[in-house]
Amino acid sequence: MVIMEGKGRLDGVDLRELVSTVPTPFYAYSASAIRHRVGALQTALGGMNARICYAVKANGNLAVLRLMAGLGIGADIVSAGEMHRALHAGIPAGNIVFSGVGKTADEMAQALAAGVWRFNIESRDELHTLQTVAAEQDVVALAAVRINPDVDAGTHAKISTGKAENKFGVTMDEARDWFSQSDAFPNVRLDGLHVHIGSQILTLQPFRLAMQQVAAFAAQLAASGHPINSIDVGGGLGVRYRHGHDVPVCVNEYAAMLRATFADFDGTIVLEPGRYLVAEAGVLITRVVRIKAGASREFLVVDAAMNDLQRPALYDAWHEIIPLHDRGGGDVRYDVVGPVCETGDTFAVQRSMPRCQAGDLLLIANAGAYGASMSSNYNSRPLTAELMLDRGRHAVVRRRQSFEEMVAGESLAAEWLTA
Ligand SMILES: *Cc1c(COP(=O)(O)O)cnc(C)c1O
Repeated sequence: MVIMEGKGRLDGVDLRELVSTVPTPFYAYSASAIRHRVGALQTALGGMNARICYAVKANGNLAVLRLMAGLGIGADIVSAGEMHRALHAGIPAGNIVFSGVGKTADEMAQALAAGVWRFNIESRDELHTLQTVAAEQDVVALAAVRINPDVDAGTHAKISTGKAENKFGVTMDEARDWFSQSDAFPNVRLDGLHVHIGSQILTLQPFRLAMQQVAAFAAQLAASGHPINSIDVGGGLGVRYRHGHDVPVCVNEYAAMLRATFADFDGTIVLEPGRYLVAEAGVLITRVVRIKAGASREFLVVDAAMNDLQRPALYDAWHEIIPLHDRGGGDVRYDVVGPVCETGDTFAVQRSMPRCQAGDLLLIANAGAYGASMSSNYNSRPLTAELMLDRGRHAVVRRRQSFEEMVAGESLAAEWLTA
């Protein structure tokens, strides 16, 4: 991570001091680290006709979105709820793209009424629905076809999206049909292509293979009278979760690949990075509840759990775990587990780390993406607090949920409603 300064400090803030006012577990995000990543990407894209639309699902906290808005970044949304967040945080509707296989007619209507920039369409049925909804509002919706290029992104099966067997996108043959039938969709202007082959991708080659197909297809379409004004290249840039193991793609090489592949394309390139912009900017701070000596191993039981950070349980993801105490002594091996009643509630197995004791604080690194945004109330654990740190300052940008908030909306079925 860029902005860690020695043990326990992030973006000028001593994380150990925060715990006197904020109960663990909590997330902390470095604004400087996010700015740094955005700047690196913007610099790499310098001179290109490119727009960055941050994938809100990676981390939709309003303060994160506000930071993006201030840096001129748009949003890639996958639900009306994400649109609500993006607009609320000040991202202009005209800088929002709407992706996803399951947009409902109602969500499309809300997005059109708000004036979102464009829709990424993933099926013929969705195209029909968008036509109907746009006609009702008497507007013309801008749309891109999401192409499934059938390339293997070499990533975890649960975050691969660009293979033929995945639910995402359509074949180029199908897309060609849509373009040739565009007269049947007078309220949809199909003038874009979209491709997103997966997440946490660590090599350039799958990106290049997908982009080359899309670039060639755009040229074919233009030659047959269907000009393409925007090509959305999706997200997927991987980050370093594990030193000496994950070697991310260099963002300058990625940009150079885009520049070369789309040299003959005369339109806007849209990027939808999520993880790359925020993963390494965030940490999850947790406290050791107790140490349990099991029959064959020692368990470090912490107060964060799979409901707070699902990635290890869901994708067998590796997160660095760093104790924030300085008590010498050699390393031992722990299984780091949370209190949730599932064996999958495990952050690390047989992890070598300094000996800990109850009350110690641990930092779970690189938790800024797909952490809080994927959290749940499982085991009736309130959603954790989230903090934004910025050059020595900190703000609570989501307070820990109260028990009352957790059960708000539920009822005891004291009154049955009958038709
Ligand atoms: C999830 C997603 C992204 C962001 O992916 P990252 O790997 O976080 O960059 C971008 N575009 C679409 C369509 C997505 O579904």
